[in-house]
Order: sequence, then structure tokens, then C-alpha cells
Amino acid sequence: MTNCPLCGKGDSRSFPIYYMLKDRRFSARKCNNCRFIFIDPRPTDADLGLMYSDEYFLFDGADFGAHSSTDYETAAIRGSVKFPIILGAIKRIKPAGKFFEVGCGMGYFLNYAKNNGYDVSGIEYAALGAEACRSKFGLDVQQSSFEAWKVVPEAYDVIFLGDVLEHLVDPLSMLKKAHEMLKPGGVVAAEVPSTFNSIVGRLAVTGMDLLGKERKMSMPPYHVNEFTPGTLRKALKGSGYSQIRIIQRVKAPSTITLRGSKFDRAVKKSLQYPNYFVTKSMGVLGDRLLGLGIK
Ligand SMILES: [Zn+2]
Repeated sequence: MTNCPLCGKGDSRSFPIYYMLKDRRFSARKCNNCRFIFIDPRPTDADLGLMYSDEYFLFDGADFGAHSSTDYETAAIRGSVKFPIILGAIKRIKPAGKFFEVGCGMGYFLNYAKNNGYDVSGIEYAALGAEACRSKFGLDVQQSSFEAWKVVPEAYDVIFLGDVLEHLVDPLSMLKKAHEMLKPGGVVAAEVPSTFNSIVGRLAVTGMDLLGKERKMSMPPYHVNEFTPGTLRKALKGSGYSQIRIIQRVKAPSTITLRGSKFDRAVKKSLQYPNYFVTKSMGVLGDRLLGLGIK
């Protein structure tokens, strides 16, 4: 059994979702100490190499969400509605300076930051994305994992990780690496999904626990961690950041993609409006989190 990637303790219980990759099962666990949700076993370097290779990453036949060629670009463009919210939150802390993005995808957000006055650069693990960043926007983006990237100490004012932490086998050490790379007073910003923090997500987990069932997720195990506001805060704190702030949002009901059975979709649809209202007015139960911390 894998120890908790957040607190290191070995005491965890099953969490009712799992993924499959080449007939191997990756089950979700929830830490009994810090409540972090993670998949076990952790994917190996070979698994990750396969999952992020062009032929696999671009495979359109399965329901890979944002992780397929057409969806990848569409999701990047559709995701741009949230750019002003995310960059606005960063700008209130650091309005200008050297901006490094880990996992730039197709480069849309990094280009947006550049157009808003930052001196930008970044890395992207998928070769397809890194190439798109350079050819489409002329951005200074190298193809690399963050794990393999050489630390340049105290070089940046802002480090942004958008939809990255949920993919990392050791998110804590990567947040510490970002901390080393920030100038004193620099800001880290990490945007993550938080599916099981929303009303529908909470109900689904409660329902499956009651029924003793587990749900097979339709994607390969790209998401090896599931953050909540509490565990995102702990991850930032545990990596040395201070003045931590977690901003919760929920996707607007008109923009959500509905998957699953007719019943699933009906439940999701009917609960998305109240969820949207609650998150907007009270800042809780969001399915998207932006965590901010200062070095
Ligand atoms: Zn833990």
C-alpha cells in the first residue's frame, strides 16, 4: 500500500473510484490522517510515458475528457473564460515580473499572461503541447516534466500550475521545488479540479459508499490526486508557503459537459444550479480550486 503522498502516513481507507490502464487497476484511497485522496499504486515512469505519448494522449476513441486531441484544444479555448479570474487573483499579489508556468498545455494561458504584461516562460510534458506553444504563440516553452526540470533558485515572481498538481505522483516535492524557484515574496498559484467537493461529487461518493459500489472512471489514471480545499491548503502549507488563500468556483451550468447515464445527467443538471448559486455566494462546494501562497 502506498503511503499518503501528502502527509506520509500509511493509514488509509478505500475511496469508491478506480481507474484502469492496460488491465491494471488503480484504486483510490483516502488518508485517515490528513484526508488526502490519491490513487494506489502510483503510476510508474513507464506508465506515465505511455499515458502522455502522442499516440495515447491523442487517442480520440475513448472518453478522455480534455486529454485527447480535439478536446484538448477545445478545452483550452473554452477554459479561457476563467483566465481573467485566475490572472486577476495573481495580479493583486504580483502585478508584473517573471512568470513561469508548469504544464502550459497549448499555451493559451501563458500567452494571456504575456499579453497582460508578464515576462513569461514555461515547460510542458506532452510534446504536442510544447510544440504548439512555440509555433502558435512563439512562447519560450521547453518540453520537460517538472520533476526533470533543473532548479533555478529565486528566479521567478510568479509560478503557475494549472491542472497540474492532480497529475503529479509527488505533488508536495514539486510545490517545494516551485518554492525554491520563487524569489522571496513571490507567489505560487495552483489551479486544480475538485470533483468530490461539489454537491454532486459528495452525493456520488456517499451513494456509492452506502451501496458498497465503486465507480470505474472512464479515463486512464491521469489524475493521481484529488484535492479538496482542505488538502490543497495543507499541500501549500507543507511546502513552505504562507498567506495561503483558496478560491473556490463552480463551472457555470451552461458550460458543463454531461457524462454518464440518463439518471446521472439528470441529477447533475438539477444540482448544478443550486451548486453554482451556493459557490458564487458563499465560496464553498466548488468543483474548481485556485490555491495561492506566498514565499
Ligand atoms: Zn495523509
